Amino acid sequence: MADEDIKTPSNFIKTIIDEDLSTNKYQGRVATRFPPEPNGYLHIGHAKSICINFGLAREYKGTCNLRFDDTNPTKEEVEYVHSIEEDVSWLGFDWQDRKFFASDYFEKLFDLAVELIKNAKAYVDSLSADQIRKYRGTLTEPGKQSPYRDRSIEENLDLFQRMRKGEFDDGAHVLRAKIDMAHPNLLMRDPTLYRIRKAHHHRTGDKWCIYPMYDFTHCLSDALECITHSICTLEFENNRPLYDWVLDQVKPACRPHQYEFARLNLTYTVLSKRKLIQLVKDGIVESWDDPRMPTISGYRRRGYTPEAIRNFCERIGVAKANSVVDIALLEHTIREDLNARAPRVMGVLKPLKVIIENYPEGQSEELEAINNPENLSAGTRKVPFSKILYIERDDFMENPPKKFFRLAPGREVRLRYAYFLTCKEAVKDPQTGEIIELRCTYDPATKGGNAPDGRKVKATLHWVSAEHAIDAQVRLYDRLFTKANPEEKDEQGLTFKDFINPDSLTVLKNCKLEPCLAQASPSDFFQFERLGYFSVDPKTKQPGGPVFNRTVTLRDTWAKIKKAGKK
Ligand code: ATP
Ligand code: MG
Repeated sequence: MADEDIKTPSNFIKTIIDEDLSTNKYQGRVATRFPPEPNGYLHIGHAKSICINFGLAREYKGTCNLRFDDTNPTKEEVEYVHSIEEDVSWLGFDWQDRKFFASDYFEKLFDLAVELIKNAKAYVDSLSADQIRKYRGTLTEPGKQSPYRDRSIEENLDLFQRMRKGEFDDGAHVLRAKIDMAHPNLLMRDPTLYRIRKAHHHRTGDKWCIYPMYDFTHCLSDALECITHSICTLEFENNRPLYDWVLDQVKPACRPHQYEFARLNLTYTVLSKRKLIQLVKDGIVESWDDPRMPTISGYRRRGYTPEAIRNFCERIGVAKANSVVDIALLEHTIREDLNARAPRVMGVLKPLKVIIENYPEGQSEELEAINNPENLSAGTRKVPFSKILYIERDDFMENPPKKFFRLAPGREVRLRYAYFLTCKEAVKDPQTGEIIELRCTYDPATKGGNAPDGRKVKATLHWVSAEHAIDAQVRLYDRLFTKANPEEKDEQGLTFKDFINPDSLTVLKNCKLEPCLAQASPSDFFQFERLGYFSVDPKTKQPGGPVFNRTVTLRDTWAKIKKAGKK
């Protein structure tokens, strides 16, 4: 992507940045960061944060760091680090040489904690986690001071050093900030800064057995990296006073500021790594990149494009109030992008054999088809036609109801880019009664799909030539959850896992596709006419032909919602 003069719509963060630039608050610098914890794969909510942080840096010609917030060794893994890098790059953003890890700052953070102790701003507490919780008080009651709160600076320094050396078990002591146990904001009631965790860290190995907490690490990492605007989601609003308190004690050369925006929520979707990991661990989905997952890797595998995801993030905007976005808007944005770019092809998902009785045996011909009516420069291609074809089983009914205009006995329809076709007879399996093939005739005078005598047909069907078609497996996806808000607490105590859609995946194994698709590469996308947008699964290889994922159907419910809203 070119970096030249991108202008996006205004929002409250841009207003703040404009103001800061006008007052020269940071000497004209704009430095943001995207700070994922490597404890899971990124989801579409993270995409919003990535687009905001990297987008602002690009627009203001500033910088955006990729910083792994890796302070919890028991939940973090290298696999997640790699997946995060891959996803950010795929979305089209570049951190250049600014990839950082909070764990790289452990030594500095330790020294700063020692400074706090020396200034009587931190102490080692030896209450149990349970007791600390009880002593914290509630929103209506002040907390109680720990009996260890007044330990001497010397004792605190000694204990903290010994915590680091591994002399104590997990949970024996913590380091706490000394702020105010009666503070109206519970997070300010002497929050924990360090805890003992005798666990192997994916980067620092066994060097450390004490790990800094988020609230201590995050603001200081921002300061060490000279971040100007530290942008996070609204749930951190209550953490801001603590963010500022820590920085006030440390007085770093660069002073960052935290701003909060509303996180993305999507209907029919769960956006929390903690919950998504359960779907993976419980085998409800195949993996983090299962195409039903709202992860960036799942969407990528399903055929969503980075352009469409970026457009979506721009469309939903940046606001300060939480809201839920209709998933139909995301699907609409994908459709819009693919509509402009995806080559059209024909594929039959549930094949029904058609024998054209008056078409010469052994003959075939090539018919011209348009690759993309939205973009005529995409040109045309040749599609083979012959005596035996496949059409979609759903496009035929023996006894059609009134509104069914497709093929039926005695009825004429158009075959896309080919001829008019009339059904003479449906041949059934004598045992099961199932229709196994259709006997039809075609009108050679209608080549290209128009009758010279001007007669009309009410339907145009897609088809493939049996002898030329390639075999494929096609996977159709539906929403993973049956409930619009699966995260909402249910009165009966049901959780998101109780609302899994049992029909979220349909595997069709005997699909027949136009022969040009034999050349399709992983992640190539197409519109299968009348059926939706499909892309080649980049992960699954099978001997019987390619595996396609349906990215999205053609039916645009968002366009309908918008239209209804205007009326
Ligand atoms: P989750 O709640 O899914 O576990 P998290 O906030 O714990 O996510 P982090 O790795 O800490 O995940 O997130 C990295 C950044 O992405 C943070 O700045 C966070 O605010 C932001 N982020 C996370 N979820 C969303 C969301 N739904 N919408 C927008 N930004 C998000
Ligand atoms: Mg988090």
